[in-house]
Amino acid sequence: MHIFKTIKPLKGFIDEAKSSNSKIGLVPTMGALHEGHMAIIRKSLKDNDITVCSIYVNPLQFNNSDDLDKYPRNLKRDLDLLEEAGCQAVFSPPDEVMYPEGKKNSMELDFGNISQILEGKHRPGHFSGVGVVLSKIFHLIAPDQAYFGQKDLQQVAVVRKLIQDLFFDIQLTRVPTIRNNKGLALSSRNSRLSGQDKLIASQLYLALTVVKEELLQRQVSVTEARQKALQLLEETASIKLEYLEIVDAGNFGMVSDIQNHREVAVCIAAYVGGVRLIDNILL
Ligand code: AMP
Repeated sequence: MHIFKTIKPLKGFIDEAKSSNSKIGLVPTMGALHEGHMAIIRKSLKDNDITVCSIYVNPLQFNNSDDLDKYPRNLKRDLDLLEEAGCQAVFSPPDEVMYPEGKKNSMELDFGNISQILEGKHRPGHFSGVGVVLSKIFHLIAPDQAYFGQKDLQQVAVVRKLIQDLFFDIQLTRVPTIRNNKGLALSSRNSRLSGQDKLIASQLYLALTVVKEELLQRQVSVTEARQKALQLLEETASIKLEYLEIVDAGNFGMVSDIQNHREVAVCIAAYVGGVRLIDNILL
């Protein structure tokens, strides 16, 4: 497995792959890999000749310095997992390579309405940071396909816009969320949760499934379904809910009647044990 820290050797590898017409799949990550990441890697390995996994904890997309400091990092283990899976290349640059003029001097990107709500509203500058780092990585690797998890559904919508608006010739693939046996969505941040916190955090998935059942089986209104889930969450004092919303999975506009939308998602963000978690399900 090739491991690149700087741009020149990475570009050399990509140029060679392109000259032999290899199909390139890209899986961008922030490392501390888990089974959710590995499911995406395996999908890319199946679809492409070469899979490049990027591992970079992008400071630009963190609006909370404590979250950035505490973000789990384990490059050695990540590399072992990727090698074992058969991944061909890893790009794990240091900050100086990604932001040679310092992150404070970085450009910004505005995604309009999508970045005004949910994650965009609660994490100012987050999607700008995501857009900037992915633009850089897309330019360097020029993949045929890029893979993103449904776990970060709003990010998928932002990346779709980035690809469309900047004419990247990249096919975007969304991969379903991998969960533990209690329903908790796997996340690198889960390593900061105690066993008890993990159990409590699985209530978030329960709340999402309640909304889905109320809407699809009992056919109640969006307001009623949301209210039922909010009541359930209120019973668990150690969950600090940030939002629970029913939105259009394409443009992230609010949904008042699910019949009027092609794909509807229930999205949640909450703190458990001081760790911010997000999740969603599609109806
Ligand atoms: P991250 O390292 O958290 O930035 O995630 C890298 C990629 O893996 C993103 O596209 C995420 O949406 C995706 N991902 C994270 N957790 C999961 C999960 N539990 N199931 C599927 N994909 C995931």
